[in-house]
Amino acid sequence: LDTLDQPILLEGQEVIATGSIGIVIYPEHGDEINTLLRHADIAMYEAKHDNSGYALFDLNYVEQNQQHLSLLAELRHAIERNEFVLYYQPKVEFATGTIGHVEALVRWMHPERGMIPPDQFIPYAEHTGYIRTITRWVIEAALRQRKQWEKMQLPLTISVNISARDLMNADMPKLFAGLMGKYGASPHWLCLEITESAIMGDPKRALGILEELHNMGLYLSVDDFGTGYSSLAYLKKLPVSELKIDQSFVFHMADDKDDATIVRSTIDLGHNMGLVVVAEGIENQATWDMLNAMGCDLAQGYYISKPMPVDALLKWIAQAPWKVLKA
Ligand code: C2E
Ligand code: MG
Ligand code: MG
Repeated sequence: LDTLDQPILLEGQEVIATGSIGIVIYPEHGDEINTLLRHADIAMYEAKHDNSGYALFDLNYVEQNQQHLSLLAELRHAIERNEFVLYYQPKVEFATGTIGHVEALVRWMHPERGMIPPDQFIPYAEHTGYIRTITRWVIEAALRQRKQWEKMQLPLTISVNISARDLMNADMPKLFAGLMGKYGASPHWLCLEITESAIMGDPKRALGILEELHNMGLYLSVDDFGTGYSSLAYLKKLPVSELKIDQSFVFHMADDKDDATIVRSTIDLGHNMGLVVVAEGIENQATWDMLNAMGCDLAQGYYISKPMPVDALLKWIAQAPWKVLKA
């Protein structure tokens, strides 16, 4: 792991590779090579899953793994069975108290297991490539919703999350153009949130696709900023308009001086680069007040509202203490 940790120089660019190691011991974890390899593979996914770098095989993983496999099989039917739902979480502008943006967050309504949050299936979908089908569904669902809001004169911009795998898909811009045409969408209907780590995985390729999307007029945002080892040189080149400070820095900033310093510096960095800065994970008034004083632009978090289904969002908007953008 230490060896892998060294940056690799590729065509003059530093590339960061990470590793995950699954460990098995013979003969405790199997007495033939195939069993050992299978168990090492399972341990490796465990290491990937908790980001620990390595994991020693444990029989409990087998059961978890079987659960994941059956979940994976069911995931393939989730769309045709209409089991995905978009929840919406509002973002409030500090300066005016106005809501002009919401983030769409996917939920899987599993008939037996109940609501499954995205963290529990998006990583698998990314691993198998099924994420492309999910992303397509999410974009289309958001556009359909936005079209309805257009008729209701509710001009909210919907942010959708795009995964690393989507960013490697050269057909992405075409997919957007096609769907936007189908719904008669204006580019400002959508904002695409791309995590910093997704961009840094293959910055050159990501940059090409982001530029195409940007040229189509789409608004782009860097999600989970501060967690993905961006070099500032790359950040400067990205055609993005918005930077979202990762919630891990926001959660405790009211009690943690270091976090507060990071947040303040990130807001200044974003503004110096001409970006709108969003803080996510605002859970209390103290955090809101600090961010407001620091000049942060947009607020998102449980303090304002949790993500909610569209009916609840409309009810919430009707009686929220915030102004809502009118067409
Ligand atoms: P994200 O895009 O960074 O979204 C923010 C997450 O933080 C959401 O979790 C949201 O519910 C949660 N959150 C917002 N405010 C607060 C707060 O004040 N306190 C706490 N504790 N949490 C807060 P969620 O909905 O579970 O989504 C998790 C992640 O899953 C998202 O992180 C995003 O990376 C991914 N995701 C969600 N929907 C999609 C999707 O449609 N496509 C893809 N590719 N990824 C998605
Ligand atoms: Mg997001
Ligand atoms: Mg985030």
